[in-house]
Amino acid sequence: MTFRLDAPAIMQLREHGYLPASEMARLGGAGSADLTPGWLALLEESLPLAVERSHSPVSSFRVGAAALGQIDARYNAPALYFGANLEFPGLPLHNSVHAEQAAVAHAWLHGEKGVSAVAANAAPCGHCRQFLLELGEPSSLSIVIPGEPARALADLLPVAFDPSQLGVNMRWMQAPFVSSGFEQGAEAYARELAAASFAPYTHVRAAVVLVLKGGEYVGGAAVESVAYNPSLGPMHVALSQLALRAPQRKWSEVEAALLVESEGLISYRASSEQILRAIAPGSCLETVPWSEG
Ligand SMILES: [Zn+2]
Repeated sequence: MTFRLDAPAIMQLREHGYLPASEMARLGGAGSADLTPGWLALLEESLPLAVERSHSPVSSFRVGAAALGQIDARYNAPALYFGANLEFPGLPLHNSVHAEQAAVAHAWLHGEKGVSAVAANAAPCGHCRQFLLELGEPSSLSIVIPGEPARALADLLPVAFDPSQLGVNMRWMQAPFVSSGFEQGAEAYARELAAASFAPYTHVRAAVVLVLKGGEYVGGAAVESVAYNPSLGPMHVALSQLALRAPQRKWSEVEAALLVESEGLISYRASSEQILRAIAPGSCLETVPWSEG
């Protein structure tokens, strides 16, 4: 039996950057656990479409990724989420977002509390292996590279630097992000995102919402890594979401950005302003303090 994306699925992926569980069940069959051959085939087949989301003006190395969420009991299948790499000309290289990070953040912001597999069109770098290790259940995560057998993440990163080495037992994505919706307005959405940000090392809650021409908005929250450098800033996640969810929109359509941030040992303000100046010079960043409760 062959499993292929059909025209409606390709259109859904091109427009929205994800495929719901109902479509995965329709095209790849249903299952109650583990990865089925159908889901793996769809994951691999979707990668060239994910690559279309890449913004890689510095390296010209276009990376696409796709992550499978958890089994949706209504369909006995997982949803599929795109990721792609993101680079910013004029800024230091560490500002990049890697495709695998983007795919997992995408799944999380859709309410997933885990991923079962991450595929990419190139082998995940060490930075991404570290980042993926810090998910809820890294031992059950499969890594898929086209033409290779699926591997357990633990086989790609043995003897890892673990969150417990900084005294942290929490794992990212254990708590799903649940939003009350976009109708509430940009600031309320940013506060929800900030409350959901993963900050066990600095305890600084932070989120960015980008407001586009026409009033639509997209946002992201900070995700910290025990190795620090693989951490994602809220501006990075928000821009990655813009690239994945609304690929037809240009950076120059970002009219304003809202940073909600709590006080603490670090701040995303200066780096968020720097990125915004580089990609949308006409826009401004407003900072709103965030506090618990
Ligand atoms: Zn990487």
